[in-house]
Amino acid sequence: MNDCLFCKIVAGQIPSKKIYEDDYTYAFEDIDPKAPTHVLVVPKQHVIDLKSATEKDAEIIGRCHVVAAKIARDRKIEDSYRTVLNVGPGSGQSVFHLHVHLIGGRTLRWPPG
Ligand code: AMP
Ligand code: ZN
Repeated sequence: MNDCLFCKIVAGQIPSKKIYEDDYTYAFEDIDPKAPTHVLVVPKQHVIDLKSATEKDAEIIGRCHVVAAKIARDRKIEDSYRTVLNVGPGSGQSVFHLHVHLIGGRTLRWPPG
């Protein structure tokens, strides 16, 4: 097992508030929510980030977004949410296992800060 925080969450070695799981993805509540809905959707396989993604990661990145859309529908926020991939330290990325932030449940300003 590597030393990746989100791999450990997927494996159940670190607790999380699970929202959804299938064969490929795992979704859980962000520990420091920035909105009433702040869910992280991650691939079960370790993908570092969008910057290092290649063609072979295209399907799983798409799956993470489709799961985010499903959760948004389930929470009835489908008309006001955002999916975000932070890429690189300048964007605030702090965990290097690809994750889609699903943020919603409040007014979202544009452009993001
Ligand atoms: P990022 O800054 O884009 O890399 O996002 C990492 C996110 O992971 C942040 O929003 C953190 O609040 C969240 N986070 C860090 N540790 C945990 C944890 N143990 N459980 C749930 N979310 C976490
Ligand atoms: Zn990982």
